Amino acid sequence: MPGAATQRSFEIRTYGCQMNMHDSERLAGLLEDAGYQRVAEGTNPDVVVFNTCAIRENADNRLYGNLGHLLPVKNSHPGMQIAVGGCLAQKDRATITQRAPWVDVVFGTHNIGSLPALLERARVQQQAQVEILESLERFPSVLPASRESPYSAWVAISVGCNNTCTFCIVPSLRGREEDRRPGDILAEIEALASEGVLEITLLGQNVNSYGVGFGDRLAFGKLLRSCGNVAGLERVRFTSPHPRDFTDDVIDAMAETANVMPALHMPLQSGSDAILRAMRRAYRREKYLAILDRVRSAMPEAAITTDIIVGFPGETEKDFADTLDLVRRARFAGAFTFQYSLRPGTPAADMPDQVPPEVVGERYERLAALVAELSLQENQKLVGREVEVLVADGEGRKDNATHRMSGRCRDNRLIHFAPADPAPRPGDVVTTMVTGAAPHYLLADGAPVAVRHTQAGDAWAAQRNRLAGAAESLTETGSVVTARGNNLVLLGMPSRRPTA
Ligand code: SAM
Ligand code: SF4
Repeated sequence: MPGAATQRSFEIRTYGCQMNMHDSERLAGLLEDAGYQRVAEGTNPDVVVFNTCAIRENADNRLYGNLGHLLPVKNSHPGMQIAVGGCLAQKDRATITQRAPWVDVVFGTHNIGSLPALLERARVQQQAQVEILESLERFPSVLPASRESPYSAWVAISVGCNNTCTFCIVPSLRGREEDRRPGDILAEIEALASEGVLEITLLGQNVNSYGVGFGDRLAFGKLLRSCGNVAGLERVRFTSPHPRDFTDDVIDAMAETANVMPALHMPLQSGSDAILRAMRRAYRREKYLAILDRVRSAMPEAAITTDIIVGFPGETEKDFADTLDLVRRARFAGAFTFQYSLRPGTPAADMPDQVPPEVVGERYERLAALVAELSLQENQKLVGREVEVLVADGEGRKDNATHRMSGRCRDNRLIHFAPADPAPRPGDVVTTMVTGAAPHYLLADGAPVAVRHTQAGDAWAAQRNRLAGAAESLTETGSVVTARGNNLVLLGMPSRRPTA
């Protein structure tokens, strides 16, 4: 293993869903434990790890494009290693090293814990290492983590999925659902809260089926209620629920647990019953809408968002009109809209009546326009209301230019707000009044009504100071360094690059 004298730097490039972002925190923790030092993207590190996604076809193309760009970089950087993990690695396996023979390590979704050993073996043997397992080696949550944020954390409650949605490649790459024990999950949440984390997001491909693994169908609602007892934990979120398994006990638990946020991201996929049947999504449009009604009567302020796929095989203009109609009735606060992407090996890939790309594209534009129009209307309803904002780091790309800061409201809406003087820190909590709205965000341009300094804000400031201290010691060596998020960013060639 590399020691301090030969400390090698690494960067992780993450694609896809929250599960992947969380896996990347584990990969970073593993590498740091093994003696590597993290630097930010674009700083010519010794090891680049791609944590890939396979959900849509463009993810494949993007990976091979990025690997191509790295070849000349690797040629000019002796000892550099490239590792590819995640869903696309699980899918393509040795094909990756055939298409990109300059890749050193390929690892799958079931063995992320092997990364440091595989890098070392590839380095010693001077030969690419491909290791893909068919079932989970150990639950990733037992691995060390280097978390991105001191105020907000992902917590996996399950991995894998027992559903068979005909468009989806996830079950074949992530395996069957495995549930973590509630006691382990709560112990992790309590540890996070004691470190100052204010917000957690419970992660699973289908959080509503959580508990099937240990025979308790009510386990998810109970878990939400238990989160309500964790001292210091202010915000609890989850993703993704599945309409088929969404039961009233979960709605009751959401409404009756003070720190469970009034926000629900519940994937719809299609508003047509015929397409839902063909997708093997075992609920129908009226059931979906009835869940929304019950959620709204229990939590009138809830913001509801969704995922929708356009152009699934066999989708007619009438099916698409049903989706538009449901979107109007659902009054979504936002939606992730996707063009159907054929995934070889999934049942939908072999269905007749694949929809021509130009039809998919045209429907996609119409859906996106409707979603934007309706989410603007929903956001405008909040103008004039006071909202509580958890200040975020890096959520507002234009913040410097607009002199605003950004964060998330309790209902998960993004808000750009005018900060007080002195400005709050990421992790602090601000109460402010909404003064404007756009389809994807709110604005608050008056002075905040209240600013609450939190332990999470202290933790963010401490992290900043640590990074600044480390940067100072590196600049003494002649490197130009700045801090970005959780990373030290070396600008230009560092004068202290360790030798491998
Ligand atoms: N488990 C979640 C659920 O049941 O909805 C979703 C997981 S998936 C990572 C996130 C979203 O990607 C899905 O909700 C779906 O809208 C989209 N998606 C999955 N497969 C797709 C495909 N083949 N083409 C287009 N979009 C897809
Ligand atoms: Fe894929 Fe369906 Fe499982 Fe979600 S529930 S991961 S869409 S198979």
